[in-house]
Amino acid sequence: MTRNEGLIFERSSPGKTGMELSALDVPPVSAKELLGEEFYRSEIQGFPEVSELEVVRHFTRLSTWNYGIDTGLYPLGSCTMKYNPRVNETVAALEGLATDHPYTPESLAQGCLKVLAQTARCLIEITGMDAISLQPAAGAQGELTGLLMMRAYHKDRNEQRRYILVPDSAHGTNPASVTIAGYEARNLKSNDRGCVGLEELGRAMTEEVAGLMLTNPNTLGIFEDQIQEIARRVHAKGGLVYMDGANMNALVGVARPGEFGVDVMHLNLHKTFSTPHGGGGPGSGPVAVKKILEPFLPAPIIEEDAEGFYRVNHDRPKSIGRVRAFYGNFGMAVRALAYILAYGPQGLRQVTEDAVLNANYVLAKLRSAYELAYDAPAMHECVFSDRRQAQHGVRTGDIAKRLIDYGFHPYTVSFPLIVSGAMMIEPTESASKAELDAFIDAMLSIAREVEEDPQIVTSAPHTTRVTRLDEATAARKPVLRWKP
Ligand SMILES: *Cc1c(COP(=O)(O)O)cnc(C)c1O
Repeated sequence: MTRNEGLIFERSSPGKTGMELSALDVPPVSAKELLGEEFYRSEIQGFPEVSELEVVRHFTRLSTWNYGIDTGLYPLGSCTMKYNPRVNETVAALEGLATDHPYTPESLAQGCLKVLAQTARCLIEITGMDAISLQPAAGAQGELTGLLMMRAYHKDRNEQRRYILVPDSAHGTNPASVTIAGYEARNLKSNDRGCVGLEELGRAMTEEVAGLMLTNPNTLGIFEDQIQEIARRVHAKGGLVYMDGANMNALVGVARPGEFGVDVMHLNLHKTFSTPHGGGGPGSGPVAVKKILEPFLPAPIIEEDAEGFYRVNHDRPKSIGRVRAFYGNFGMAVRALAYILAYGPQGLRQVTEDAVLNANYVLAKLRSAYELAYDAPAMHECVFSDRRQAQHGVRTGDIAKRLIDYGFHPYTVSFPLIVSGAMMIEPTESASKAELDAFIDAMLSIAREVEEDPQIVTSAPHTTRVTRLDEATAARKPVLRWKP
């Protein structure tokens, strides 16, 4: 440990304070009376006493222990981890947008309602769908919302259908959402091109099937080029096509799911539309539908009347109901709209082209050293297998750990499950050529190490403050509190 490390609790000494509070200028309220004797404490047990500078250093130091998109390339596949432009934050912090209350009457909230309506209109244009709800707070919640609408649609037609077909290349949330929506997931095996095969689909698609749930481009980073025929066959048996649109970073401005047979889809604003991801902020997974599903959208819906006045319409008799309080995560709609308007149609198309170009550049440069899972052009991500390295006893997880020593965040390890030893890489459009070249050099260098000195890879990382952690126990029994 260097001089500046250690825990803030260990620096504590009695009487040190970070700040002085000024005297109260309102009559004091007795905390004892408010809380009751039982809950009142005159001091917090074990709370560290430290100076302001120690607190500043403590949190600044912690912030450097983590790896983020603001510090370097984040090449996780199937989970677009692109840069969140700062302009989004500037716009979201504008007073009228940041501080308006969701209970503000319609007449006083026209600006905020307009932001929601415009975001909806842009996303409808981008997807080629007819209507949208911004309520769902995550991709997975969007999936559930879409599936519940499919249920409501079949029920409305007095049809009992039990199954949803899910290709084996699906994101793990897909079969989970199917189950929560009360359906049974039926697995569709991918063909030798890593796509949905028409024969397999033909066998599985019966009148007991409510629909197909597929990701396009799929999680192998491959575009389902038979999508129109796939949709036609699902529709012919009365089923609906759900598209997991979390991978829209490969399509925006180039292809519109509404034009290739999709009936319902979700988007991940916290992927494609550059709003913060994971711990960085609440998510947003809008669900877009074709006309036939519009009556079932979650209520309320924001509508613009002939005078240009925005109204919140709760009168939706066939709606599946609410899936989220108020209007969804409003701040995420603000950020996504700022992003969409800042780029404009041409800019968004270029984002897509650059994302696809970057993935194909990585694919082309690494295929001499690593085995491609499926030899098809990549869309936004490419998937290798560790087959060659496994002959030297090195697996995808080892290579990922070694990448950390080279200063990069690992790619996605062991997903999708249909590829043995999968190494899934999504550079996104945010990476410059110089950064991609450095990443490629690191991967090629590791491939050489595997042949010459595999031990250095299997024992990586060597440069981090902790080495290999027990990930299962860390997840199941996390230690979240410091104890003396
Ligand atoms: C990320 C992702 C999801 C789930 O989205 P969340 O916001 O994490 O719930 C679903 N499908 C695909 C293909 C994804 O990449």
